[in-house]
Amino acid sequence: MKKIKLKDFKKALSKWGEVYIRTRDGFLKEGRLSSKKSKKSPKEFLLPREEVLLAIHKKGADTEVLEAHPSKKKVVMGALPCDMKGLELTTKNFLNSPEDPYYKKRVENTLFVSEMCQYPSSSCFCTSFDYGPSSKMGDITYFRLNDDNVLCEPISEKGKKALLWEQYPDAGEKDLEIMEKMLRETAKRLQKLNISYDFSRAREVYASSELKDAVFSCLNCGACTYVCPTCYCFDIRDIERKDFVLRERVWDSCMFFVYSLEASGHNPRKNRSKRAENRFMHKFFYQPLQYKEFGCTGCGRCVDVCPAGYDIRETIRSIQSFMEGKNG
Ligand code: SF4
Ligand code: SF4
Repeated sequence: MKKIKLKDFKKALSKWGEVYIRTRDGFLKEGRLSSKKSKKSPKEFLLPREEVLLAIHKKGADTEVLEAHPSKKKVVMGALPCDMKGLELTTKNFLNSPEDPYYKKRVENTLFVSEMCQYPSSSCFCTSFDYGPSSKMGDITYFRLNDDNVLCEPISEKGKKALLWEQYPDAGEKDLEIMEKMLRETAKRLQKLNISYDFSRAREVYASSELKDAVFSCLNCGACTYVCPTCYCFDIRDIERKDFVLRERVWDSCMFFVYSLEASGHNPRKNRSKRAENRFMHKFFYQPLQYKEFGCTGCGRCVDVCPAGYDIRETIRSIQSFMEGKNG
């Protein structure tokens, strides 16, 4: 690993693209690099809240179709392992066949510089999955040694080419020891849940009173789906402006009644609880069945933000007990 002054690191990254750093609220151009996770995940760098996919320009009787191609190069600095895991999971969806060209372009134009996590919060449970605070993810990874210095190394080819790595000194043995010790301590502070689900019992779980009871408090406000790094529901809409019709992709939420409303007027998830049950099932049964991985990173943001006090960890435990036949 290399040892670099934080300010030099940021300056060098700014040559690759516009740098956005992790602040307490989200990933912003201005602000202080936070020690804790941000309230919002960086998913909007790959799946923006609103994005124009194409524009139809009306020119008298003629029309011209203009495709939008995101081209600005951006550096996301300080994404934590849970943020990177979330992006890995959404990428599985968008770059699975057929590839989403808009998402793909954003992946190409974004450099992810991840920070190994030292300050988890009480809502975090990332080690319940197959990674943790010391996971080296993204294009470049770093450890914050202190307020002024980082220890860092490239991960991907893009990361290797992003900086002139040879110009920086290697990290000393003592610095590496500090890093290992800090990361070991961090992992010990994290809550690890036992999630050994039998996915073939998905139907049984969906029909169970345990799942119904566990999600009962959910109000369907949708807040958790917006802060979640792995939620990717979207809608496509056409908007008419003076000389243009814009086709936009916007964030949506499976928690909303209209999300599952069909053209016939039938809604397979017309009840509040059905929508909350579906969100859990999608992350803990359907995604593992499709992608061989849970659709949750254990970032705990949904726990932090829920106005109803719903805690997904309780549902995970309840379903684990159901699987083990402990619920009566
Ligand atoms: S934030 Fe809470 S109340 Fe709102 S949709 Fe999510 S679980 Fe339900
Ligand atoms: S479901 Fe909750 S804990 Fe899991 S990734 Fe989404 S916000 Fe994080």
